[in-house]
Amino acid sequence: MKIHEFQAKALFAAAGIPVPQGIVARSPDEAAAAFTSLGGELAVVKAQIHAGGRGKGGGVKLVRSADEAKEAATAILSAPLITHQTGPEGQPVKTLLVEAGSDIAHEYYVGLTLDRALGMPVLMASTEGGVEIETVAANTPEKILKQPVDPEAGLRPWQARQLAYGLGLPASAIRGAQKIFTALSTLFLEKDASLVEVNPLVLTGAGDVIALDGKVTFDSNALYRQPAIVELRDIDEEDAREADAQEAGLAYIALDGNIGCLVNGAGLAMGTMDTIKLAGGEPANFLDVGGGATAEQVTTAFKIILSDPKVEAILVNIFGGIMKCDVIAEGILAAASEIGISVPLVVRLEGTNVERGRELLEGSDLDIITASDLADAAAKAVESLGAKA
Ligand code: GDP
Ligand code: MN
Repeated sequence: MKIHEFQAKALFAAAGIPVPQGIVARSPDEAAAAFTSLGGELAVVKAQIHAGGRGKGGGVKLVRSADEAKEAATAILSAPLITHQTGPEGQPVKTLLVEAGSDIAHEYYVGLTLDRALGMPVLMASTEGGVEIETVAANTPEKILKQPVDPEAGLRPWQARQLAYGLGLPASAIRGAQKIFTALSTLFLEKDASLVEVNPLVLTGAGDVIALDGKVTFDSNALYRQPAIVELRDIDEEDAREADAQEAGLAYIALDGNIGCLVNGAGLAMGTMDTIKLAGGEPANFLDVGGGATAEQVTTAFKIILSDPKVEAILVNIFGGIMKCDVIAEGILAAASEIGISVPLVVRLEGTNVERGRELLEGSDLDIITASDLADAAAKAVESLGAKA
């Protein structure tokens, strides 16, 4: 689960990490008023969306008067913000953060994520802040300093010190940076985060370090024990199909391809996506209807898949164990009569009640492409692309 920058900064502030003074605004007038109450000569108006790269996309504007703040807010709120992380349609902006401007001497990068090879979180820091860390990692990996964070003990003082000196920070900023590294590590562990990123962490002209940006992502499987974090959820920022699926108890993840998949079981769903790719196709989604899905859930699953305009074919791959093939067939028929299936439909059914399931599908007037096994199904789905159902 992701949260907004202003929410991440509230968590930072509560953890003792210095952040610029800021006020949330939801209209141009509120942005102008925020500029005035900050009382400085310079402020920054920042779009609050769950995607990075806002600066380059025009979602971060420096302003020097209340009028300029109003103008910047009007511009940012008027159209969806397009960044390299939003996709071409962009993300509508409803909320702004108006912050006191900072005097930036240098921009650093600090981030925590899970290092799967080490089997524990790792804190990364770099002198190359403000730019995408993926670029730094690809071109100059030696410029990323790393320290593993023991999940029991947290970041140890010597590790924080080594990072601060490793970045070549001036003496005035060493203590502050150490405190920030330690606090970010504690936040990561205590809040069950999967990512904490401060890009940039800045050294100010006065020699202090502050978090100028903040991004925190939480492990969704741990949200049951983080009620205060769940409160921060903003459904409007989430993929509508993923939210609908969650509501219906389906595990759905939107992807970039054009072959929609409906599968039972997470492992089989991943195997199905691999097989589609092997056949030269691209899956449009991951979808696991679960072991004991009802016909209603299957119908909902079809609706979600078909609401994705990229989908040009659907592959149903069911291995009936607990799941019964006739239930899947009923779901397919219900979806077809309710919403109509406008793309080629390839079905591979096997397992419990498979005869009954096949009978139901054959007895319908649906134009179904049946497949004998998964490889056959994937090949047929790829072949059917571009054809009309
Ligand atoms: P992102 O593009 O979504 O990562 O948004 P950031 O919050 O990181 O802002 C992008 C860039 O705007 C930063 O890297 C800074 O260079 C610049 N910026 C943000 N706040 C200030 C500020 O207070 N003063 C100045 N001079 N630049 C700022
Ligand atoms: Mn940033």
